[in-house]
Amino acid sequence: MNAVNHIEQIVTQIVNDSQNIEEHIEQDTKTRIRELNDENFVYEKKIKSNRNKILNLKRKLYQECHHQFIRDYSAASDDVYKYYCSQCSLYRGEF
Ligand SMILES: [Zn+2]
Repeated sequence: MNAVNHIEQIVTQIVNDSQNIEEHIEQDTKTRIRELNDENFVYEKKIKSNRNKILNLKRKLYQECHHQFIRDYSAASDDVYKYYCSQCSLYRGEF
């Protein structure tokens, strides 16, 4: 093998290596994106489940509380809820 061929072989090898590294980085990035999306799916399911639990607990609280409703002066005139309970903090008519 002459010197020129040897240099060409080395250059080809460097180009191939750099392409392999780029492909590897791209694959790692795609994998990481997929992992994060999978995590988000699990968290979103958990958040949805927790929201339902909170709603059910609030409904239970609303039914059991001996409300003492007071005017909410921060409510705008067209707000649906204008009174909240000083005991449970829920709005009158919320449930
Ligand atoms: Zn109450």
